[in-house]
Amino acid sequence: MSIQTVAVIGAGTMGAGIAQVCAQAGWKTNLFDAYPEGLERGMNAIETFWDKGIARGKTTPEQKEEWASNLHSFSDMRDAVRDADMVIEAVPEVPQIKARVFHVLGVETKKDCILGTNTSSLSIADIAAASGRPDKVIGMHFFNPVPIMTLLELVKHDLCSEETIALAKSAGEAMGKTTILVKDVPG
Ligand code: NAD
Repeated sequence: MSIQTVAVIGAGTMGAGIAQVCAQAGWKTNLFDAYPEGLERGMNAIETFWDKGIARGKTTPEQKEEWASNLHSFSDMRDAVRDADMVIEAVPEVPQIKARVFHVLGVETKKDCILGTNTSSLSIADIAAASGRPDKVIGMHFFNPVPIMTLLELVKHDLCSEETIALAKSAGEAMGKTTILVKDVPG
């Protein structure tokens, strides 16, 4: 399966950075936040990062325009994830919030969509169970600031499929990250 569309859930510190690198990878990137001010802050953070890159001569206005054309903001999570081939969740580190998000993702995404979580310390197996499709769920632990830090930890759990691991690895590499595979160890 090749990735065309990615949805990022949560537009905070991590979600905005993840959406930025997804847009830069050339994917249609749908950024959703439950709060309008969160969404606006995330979109502004990405724009500011690109503008600073132009000011420093690291990128060009044309390049920014191309990346920006890949990025779309959504105020409805179902609309954001409907066509996604990969979803990356970056909502607050609260088990109940993650579980609610993954329950909706399990229902609303395409059956072969892979579901990544950026959790720092929660059990991936628990989050995966909430989706009803645990084989498609994997930890995708980025580091802050995402556009700069090159490491991406892929966290597998017992029910994570080999296909999901392979897809997450190739997606991480397309985002310019060095991936390492680690086990699901809460905390
Ligand atoms: P943050 O507070 O900056 O952003 C969270 C965003 O999620 C906010 O914009 C908030 O409005 C939004 N949100 C809240 N409930 C939501 C919901 N139900 N649906 C959609 N959006 C919702 O948090 P962060 O620092 O970006 O952390 C996000 C995740 O990334 C956490 O699991 C955290 O442990 C992990 N993480 C953080 C860092 C870091 O350095 N900040 C590093 C690695 C991993």
